[in-house]
Amino acid sequence: MASEQAPVAGLWRKAGEARAVDARLAIAADGTTSVTDGAGTVLAWGAFQGTKVSDRVGSIPRKITFPGSGVFETSDNDGIDRLVGRHAKGPVGFIHQLERFRPRLIAFVLATVLLGAAVYRYAVPLLVEVAVAVTPPAVSTLMSKGTLASLDQAIFEPSKLSPERQKSLSDGFAELVALTDEPASKRPAYSLNFRAGGPIGPNAFALPDGTVVLTDELVELAGADNDMILGVLGHEIGHVDHRHSLRQLYRAAGVTALIMLIGGDIGSGTEDIMVQGAALLSLSYSRDAETDADRFSVELMHKAGKDPAAIARFFELLRNKLGDHAEGNFLSTHPATPERIAETQRYAREITASN
Ligand SMILES: [Zn+2]
Repeated sequence: MASEQAPVAGLWRKAGEARAVDARLAIAADGTTSVTDGAGTVLAWGAFQGTKVSDRVGSIPRKITFPGSGVFETSDNDGIDRLVGRHAKGPVGFIHQLERFRPRLIAFVLATVLLGAAVYRYAVPLLVEVAVAVTPPAVSTLMSKGTLASLDQAIFEPSKLSPERQKSLSDGFAELVALTDEPASKRPAYSLNFRAGGPIGPNAFALPDGTVVLTDELVELAGADNDMILGVLGHEIGHVDHRHSLRQLYRAAGVTALIMLIGGDIGSGTEDIMVQGAALLSLSYSRDAETDADRFSVELMHKAGKDPAAIARFFELLRNKLGDHAEGNFLSTHPATPERIAETQRYAREITASN
């Protein structure tokens, strides 16, 4: 037949015999596999699917086993692949191959997915924690100054609040900072910065070194209610105190920047993080971080002898005045859900009742 392929030369060893004889292996178009000797005598015969072909490993001789009859061995690896290829690619052969490799493939895919999930679940948070722990204050300052400078260039205008209003808010802010648990020597260098928020409207946020930014729009929204504004500032001080801002920045920075930073390549690590810094505004903290900051505000305001539920009142005000229009403002990163407001009010009552 024209489709018949050239046989492959090798040695035939009958089952149970040590002696090998010169032989040739051929596979017919229908898959019939036969071994013949030099004289054309058939030594073994059977369907290809009934034979076992050893895997190709370098130039190690290949074995085609006829179960019960014997083994054909050849060093003509290419010849075997050529012969076997036609039959292994048929539907039966393909499924045969798939079944042979599927357990390994599934295990491999599973291991890859699990490893990826583990890296995301454990390694990234771990890298973030290590980076937070090794970040010298000077680097926090560098990153925060860089971030504020790029925000000033891109979106902010100088504040139009009166110097008197700025002074009274700054005094309240300093009073809250002085009541945080960290001793003054270890405390971040907190500073309150007033800006006209433009596109980010009524807003407040904190940078890792303690730089807190408050927009004119938020002050205007709260009107004469200074406690409400201080409640928001207490919340932001909480984010700094718990190192939420640094963690947030590092999560956004990505693994490469973190490794550079931890590895001591502070220059380029910091640069990468500063590029991300402006995106900080659009990122939300985790719900746990928000709850921590809300509670921090309640505690701090209570210690200062001010309304501990002020932050909850502010969230209510935001809901009433802005509704669902949360584009870019404080609401977009601080969802003022009824549960959040109720929980903060409950905690404020609890802390007031306790002493
Ligand atoms: Zn927050």
